[in-house]
Amino acid sequence: MARKPKYVYSFGGGKADGKAAMKNLLGGKGANLAEMTSLGVPVPPGFTITTEVCTAYYENKKKYPPGLEKQVAAALKKVEREMRMKFGNPKNPLLFSVRSGARQSMPGMMDTVLNIGLTTKTIPGLIAKTKNARFVWDAYRRLIQMYADVVMEKAAGVEPADGQGIREQLEHVMGRVKTARGYKSDLDLTAEELEKITQVFKAKIREILGKEFPDDANDQLWGGIAAVFQSWNGRRAVSYRRIEGIPHHWGTAVNVQTMVFGNMGDASATGVAFTRNPATGEKVFYGEWLVNAQGEDVVAGIRTPNPINEAGKTADTGHLESLEVKMPKLYKQLDGIQKKLEKHYKDMQDIEFTVQDGRLWMLQTRTGKRNGPAAVRMAVEMCREKLISPDVAVSRVKPEQLDELLHPMVDPEAEKTAVELAKGLPAGPGGASGQVVFTADDAEAWGKEGKKVVLVRNETSPEDVHGMHAAEAILTAKGGMTSHAALVARGWGKCCIVGCSALDINVAGKYMNVAGKTIREGDWITLNGTKGRVYDGMLQLAFPDLESNQDYQALMSWADDIRKLGVRTNADTPQDAGKARSFGAEGIGLTRTEHMFFEPSRIMAMREMIVAETPDARRRAVMKLLPFQRQDFKGILEAMEGLPVTIRLLDPPLHEFVTLDATQMVTLAGQLGISPEKLKARVNSLHELNPMLGHRGCRLGIAYPEVTEMQARAIFEATAELSKAGRKVHPEVMIPLVGSVNEFLDQEKLVRAQADAVMREQGVKFEYMVGTMIELPRACVVADRIAEGAEFFSFGTNDLTQTTFGFSRDDVATFLPDYITGGVLPADPFQTIDQEGVGELVKMGVERGRAVKPKLKIGICGEHGGEAESVKFCHRTGLDYVSCSPFRVPIARLAAAHAAIEEKAAGKAPKAAKPAKKVAKKKAKKVAKKKAKKKTKKVAKKKATKKPAKKKASKKPARKRAKRKPAKKKAKKVVKKKAKKKPAKKPKKKAKRKARKRR
Ligand code: PEP
Ligand code: MG
Repeated sequence: MARKPKYVYSFGGGKADGKAAMKNLLGGKGANLAEMTSLGVPVPPGFTITTEVCTAYYENKKKYPPGLEKQVAAALKKVEREMRMKFGNPKNPLLFSVRSGARQSMPGMMDTVLNIGLTTKTIPGLIAKTKNARFVWDAYRRLIQMYADVVMEKAAGVEPADGQGIREQLEHVMGRVKTARGYKSDLDLTAEELEKITQVFKAKIREILGKEFPDDANDQLWGGIAAVFQSWNGRRAVSYRRIEGIPHHWGTAVNVQTMVFGNMGDASATGVAFTRNPATGEKVFYGEWLVNAQGEDVVAGIRTPNPINEAGKTADTGHLESLEVKMPKLYKQLDGIQKKLEKHYKDMQDIEFTVQDGRLWMLQTRTGKRNGPAAVRMAVEMCREKLISPDVAVSRVKPEQLDELLHPMVDPEAEKTAVELAKGLPAGPGGASGQVVFTADDAEAWGKEGKKVVLVRNETSPEDVHGMHAAEAILTAKGGMTSHAALVARGWGKCCIVGCSALDINVAGKYMNVAGKTIREGDWITLNGTKGRVYDGMLQLAFPDLESNQDYQALMSWADDIRKLGVRTNADTPQDAGKARSFGAEGIGLTRTEHMFFEPSRIMAMREMIVAETPDARRRAVMKLLPFQRQDFKGILEAMEGLPVTIRLLDPPLHEFVTLDATQMVTLAGQLGISPEKLKARVNSLHELNPMLGHRGCRLGIAYPEVTEMQARAIFEATAELSKAGRKVHPEVMIPLVGSVNEFLDQEKLVRAQADAVMREQGVKFEYMVGTMIELPRACVVADRIAEGAEFFSFGTNDLTQTTFGFSRDDVATFLPDYITGGVLPADPFQTIDQEGVGELVKMGVERGRAVKPKLKIGICGEHGGEAESVKFCHRTGLDYVSCSPFRVPIARLAAAHAAIEEKAAGKAPKAAKPAKKVAKKKAKKVAKKKAKKKTKKVAKKKATKKPAKKKASKKPARKRAKRKPAKKKAKKVVKKKAKKKPAKKPKKKAKRKARKRR
């Protein structure tokens, strides 16, 4: 007989059906509850209903699979036995919490119901047992509030007007009683008052929702289970999944767990903590707690929590009592558990605990979210503690998280004289300025208009997530470092300040009073999220210095050791080139030359060239640009000395240089000495209906060879000048928008003629390469033909995406958002490479190119070169390098390392890398290296005279060496200690790097 499917997994009493590795089935929370139980950590017993049930529930018109009820009943019995209590029993009632738990944590996005099992039958029994009527009535009013909100309103699909939800309405009931009695806190309410409140609550529910609050334990349990499954498809959960890229088909598990209470008096408490500081990465046990409270009180920010220990105190929280001092024994036990958990999971844990009447219970452990700087620090420190390997450390940091290390910070000088409005808790680092808005919807709407906003709220809730995402920064009046705002902002690496109690916010009036001022919607403020300071106005922001971040340097040096893919930059100026080099760029993969023509001193010559009627006149005009261009290229080559520099010949449509209004036309005609009519006629003749498919790229150079000649001459004169001065420069001339081999050959001939001429004239020999962009589908198809001439390929995936999809890259915004929201395309193909279509063409180009020239150097210089997933694709496809904007260089370096680690884990090498690998092995040997040196010298000499095309392959070793040197130096500095300790590893590392460079 076939085994019945298992839908329910029990845990408790030191035994568990599940384990940590079963996250897909049990969700993160369920899997970890099982693991903690097996580790001997005190966990309240319970059971997990699997994610498969959720999937089945949605696939089967919201019906449970047969047999689920029976399995739940059996698991429930187990818990009853373990706890020696009974669910729904009037004398000895067992209460449950019902919580969601997806594979990947979705903080606060789904629903929870606590205290399930409290009914008019069980309440007297629990009062008799606990001898604490106040506690029981308080638990009952919490159950009613939560249940009404989650089960009876949200899960039932009731959508109240903003502020009119049942939860708020019940909150008002309680608020009115507190005001009437002059109470400040919920804790002031007596048992009798709470009992009355629960009666009013039930009447309100009847009145507003037209239903009775259920008075049966089992009804409550199944209502709670259904509500959790329903919340998987709730609005906020769906929007969070979309933002985080979590698949909708995963489903959530449901965890039904024995309730333990942190609100049973002064020997009870609750808290949330991290095994390391999630904001800085520092290795200190870090968290917050509240005496006599339930978990939601800490997270919701209703009460400002205390620091868990003395080490975690700040100037703002120094006066608050820590758990370490208030309950030293329990703190010691908790500290032991947190250490055990971190050691077991080998990663920073985010834990939740409750102390019930002097007994500690662990409610949750999960991998803690952290911001970028903290992720880097933790990864490096854990590796140094030998908890994890360098590979694991490198893969722990998401490439995008490095963005946060490049975060703008409030300029310290500007901060000195700024008007401080308020102080709060520094929940998310970095600085941000923006216009104040008071609702999440406004934040989203203003964001869509392109405005920078700071979302200011009393506290945030998961309903605000869309506005929080749209905002530059988040500021809340309430809440602690583990409040909703703090957790969500940290996960996104967003600037955030919470618990800023000086703010007196009037949401309806759209203003706030603070520090004697009124700040209205639209006013600018600046946040220093690292210090927790709020300032009036828009302050200058400054970028941090990556060079001084030793953890970052160490991590990146490990990443560099691991990765096989080279990383270059797209840079058009010496300044950008220098910046990119400081970020670790190993050369330039694309210098666009067009902007160089638009400077006022040059544009005239360009226009003269365009309107010239004879080749001679055209040449005279264009040659006026030569000295400027020579200077441009000299600067860039110098800034990248020792590294390859790919310079692309002019690419944009010609008419862009003569886009003029009527007055400008008359002025230009005068300057050019021709009639305005003639000029107009010429300009009109350049008009194109589809300029991006028109007279651009190599088509320009074919029609106007003078432009190619001038640019090639400028590149080579700069090279000659620098070579004579003993500088090592490596220009690579790149022909754009080639679709056939003849286009390439036409331009190559012009370029090489200039190289020969300059070498002859200047009596100097230098190396250079001539290659092409592959950015048209045809170029991919005939890549074998093109490779016969080209010495390198660089995939221009911007144009390749445009021409493959037939989407105009300039007009795509008019329809692409509909494609993404409608699921027609999974992502913007101009950001993340479309592997299925464009990617296949890239693969074809690589395969066909290398079939002719196995060692053909191939890179990518489209925007995709700095996007993590696309970088990984490039690695798998066997490219030699990616090239991206300077600020994305670190991201590409890390993504390339991730790709290599993933490949290692999958136990396979990239197909296209095979031939190169063999070469790398051979060349790693010293003897071979020497040979290569000699060969290079010989070849370089020969090359200047004849047959340039054949010499390129043998030129490579020399270039590789030159390219490698600075990187080696840098790495040595950074990992000085490491290198000192383990000298034996050095040669291996060298060999590895060479292997990479030769791919
Ligand atoms: C490309 O097309 O990918 C490219 C890098 O060139 P450009 O963006 O300048 O057209
Ligand atoms: Mg292009």
